[in-house]
Amino acid sequence: MSVKQNLNKIEEEISNHIEKNSISAQPHVIAVTKYVTIERAKEAYQAGIRHFGENRLEGFKEKKAALPDDAIFHFIGSLQSRKVKDVINEVDYFHALDRLSLAKEINKRANHVISCFVQVNVSGEESKHGIALDEVNEFLNELKDYENIKIVGLMTMAPLTDDASYIKSIFHDLRHKKEEIQQFNLEHAPCTELSMGMSNDYQIAVEEGTTFVRIGTKLVGEEE
Ligand SMILES: *Cc1c(COP(=O)(O)O)cnc(C)c1O
Repeated sequence: MSVKQNLNKIEEEISNHIEKNSISAQPHVIAVTKYVTIERAKEAYQAGIRHFGENRLEGFKEKKAALPDDAIFHFIGSLQSRKVKDVINEVDYFHALDRLSLAKEINKRANHVISCFVQVNVSGEESKHGIALDEVNEFLNELKDYENIKIVGLMTMAPLTDDASYIKSIFHDLRHKKEEIQQFNLEHAPCTELSMGMSNDYQIAVEEGTTFVRIGTKLVGEEE
């Protein structure tokens, strides 16, 4: 399938879910290009996609260099502190802020304010990165003097399961946390955005009002 065909299908599904659930805003679709070639990423750009996600330094740099300047780049993977200086100033959105030591390094190396999502481990699985849901407020409080970090939203990855109602509860909890934080009116953490939903669960995330979905396999993953 071409990226355009995949995108049309995904956008149609998103529209259906938005209508059904009376959601006002259309989420942004981030094409996760970590599995595919530069050529395929360019095809995604031609298809009209402007948001691109990569989870590794090398892939990030390669795709960013190859695509036009108006492509918006999301770093969606965990980042080792020692690699922060190599990439952070090229990132439009960083989705995996999950510890204070990383925030400290980003703050030190950034030459402008970096838009970050706090990665939250909603399900509490041990294998997952992220701050526990009940520790997010305290974490945000600790970030308030980091002048180069702006918390634009919360990000999570749902557990790998076929249990749609469980996944929905995870996304629901994250949306609640985001709404709670918005009420605080924090200058350093407006927290207007949600980054949740991947190939297998983006419809559920859309129902829960996500503002960004991160789709690899179903959008660009299967090359012809
Ligand atoms: C790989 C990846 C995705 C996309 O996964 P698919 O299931 O292929 O859509 C989304 N988010 C993160 C953080 C990823 O690492």
